[in-house]
Formats: sequence, structure tokens, C-alpha cells
Amino acid sequence: MDSDAAFTYNGGKVAPGERQNLRYGISETYLGDPVRIPVTIVNGERDGPTVFLSAAAHGDELNGIEVVREVAFEWDLDDLAGTIVCLPVLNVQGFLTQQRYLPIYDRDLNRSFPGDPSSTSAKRMAHAIFRNFIAPCDLGIDFHTSTRGRTNMLHVRADTEDDAVSRLAFAFGASVVVDGAGSDGTLRGEATRAGVPTITVEMGQAHRFERRLIDDALDGVESVFAEYGLQPGPVRWPGWRTVVTEKTWIRADAGGIVDMHYDRGSLVHEGERICTITDPFKADGVPVEAPFTGVLIGLLENPVVYPGNPICHLAELDAETARIVDRRQTDR
Ligand SMILES: [Zn+2]
Repeated sequence: MDSDAAFTYNGGKVAPGERQNLRYGISETYLGDPVRIPVTIVNGERDGPTVFLSAAAHGDELNGIEVVREVAFEWDLDDLAGTIVCLPVLNVQGFLTQQRYLPIYDRDLNRSFPGDPSSTSAKRMAHAIFRNFIAPCDLGIDFHTSTRGRTNMLHVRADTEDDAVSRLAFAFGASVVVDGAGSDGTLRGEATRAGVPTITVEMGQAHRFERRLIDDALDGVESVFAEYGLQPGPVRWPGWRTVVTEKTWIRADAGGIVDMHYDRGSLVHEGERICTITDPFKADGVPVEAPFTGVLIGLLENPVVYPGNPICHLAELDAETARIVDRRQTDR
């Protein structure tokens, strides 16, 4: 969109040089009250791209909310070249009840995009969000965390086969990019297919504000703004980078209490013991070893497993990258 023009949505417009905080109605409750999502639109005086920043499509994933709020309210945006559309809480009912899904029939809002105005309640809400605040954008970042009980190292998910998406993914400057087209109905997948290149940023765990990750994500947004000319600044290089094509969740082969030996983001070498599955009597336990050298991008937080439960998501590293990561982690 040419942001010489105002940003318009159904029922409103934000002219260049203006900022608007609104609560936009996307549905109605059992009591007939409006369900309204908070939206902040900042239209810079100068021309530039329109970018959306969204969070809490899963209602209990909080880290991204703080990232979006700080960009909207703590950054100096006086010289912004372009427009930002800040959507800190997409799934209002899930947020109110602190759960992942919409409480109405447990629907996943992040499988309901681009939505449909005459379909289910979830798809109607998704449609109202998508048509007004996603489709008019040039690119977007959707923030998530791991599912409850697990945690993620900060990483980007993106379809790197798509040049426009890959430019955005690399501009964010995370070390790990997990490659893949977003599933049907996800905000990332559907926005990208609708011509709005979008990445997902995964960071930390549900139900928390994790300061170090929030700061890291803010650096990523700053770097994206620099890449697309919204604000001056360097595009960051994270020191090392790997594009992961295969998702390898290592699963428990025994039930028990998990004694984890590494933190998220750690490098583990092939054959090293990632964790030990123990019993209540602290007997020998079942070791879980790394099948290859890689970095732990996802990890169990709630330390109990049935056989078959995921323990960690290990991303394979080539020998050269592993050497760089090794050196950086020993230097810390
Ligand atoms: Zn999520």
C-alpha cells in the first residue's frame, strides 16, 4: 500500500501523521455484548510500507503481546516512514480465559484464517481481522510461544522458498529459521498466500513475560524496520544462522519424571545425554541421547512424560555452524 494515502478499515481511517487506538468489534458474546480486539495504527508522515505486528492468536501466548505494545507505545515513531498496524491480542476470548483456543467449541483461531463472513464464529472473527487489518498490509510478523508445558528458543518460521518471505525472515535476524509453508488456516500461511509476506516468531513459553526474549524480539523488529526503510538502523546479523527443513521432535520411549541436562538454545553433540527419564525411586533411569549434533530449539518445561510424549525439538547443525555455536556458547 502507498502510505501517502490514509490507512482505511471498515468504518475508519488513519491519515498520514496520525495515530489511532481502537477497539474493533469482531463478534458478539452470549450476552449480546461486542467482542472487540485492541488495535493501534500508527501512520507515519513519510511514505513507506504497511506492516502488521500481531500476537496472542493463541490466547495464552503472552510474550508477543509485550513486544507489540512496546513497539506501539515505547518506541519513538515520530519519523516513521510507513504504517504499522499493531494487534496485540487477536484471540480475545482465549486471552480472557488464558487458554490457547477460542472457548467456543475449542476452535483454533490460527486455523481459521482468512476467515469467512458466513461460516463458523471463529471464521467470522478471522474474516473481520483479516479483511480490515491484515490484507491491506505489505508484510507482517505474528508472534507465538510454545504450547503450554514446553518452551522455545526464539526462532523464525517462514516459507523460505518464497523470496519475499525469505527476505523478511532473514531481516529479523534470528539464528534459527524453520522452513515450511504455513498450514492451511494459519495467519502466516494465509496472509502469505494472499500476497502479504508473513513470518511467525516463536519465543519462550505460554503464560509468561520473558524479558530477555522480548528484548531479543524487539531487536528483530527494529532490524526488519531497517531492512524495509521504516526507520533507519542496521539490519542485524545474529552471528550464525541455520535454516532447518526437518522438524525432529525427540519422543520419550519410557514414562517418568524428566531430569533435563540442557537449557533451550543449547548445542548438544551427537551421543550426548540430553535428559534422563527417572522413576520415583531415582533408580538408574533411561538416558535420552542426541541422535545428531544440533541445537535445542524446543524443550519440555513440565518435566513428566508418557512414552511417546515430545521431549525436545532438535535442529541439526552442519559441522561448521556447530563449531561457531560451540565457540560462542563457551565464550559466554
Ligand atoms: Zn501459538
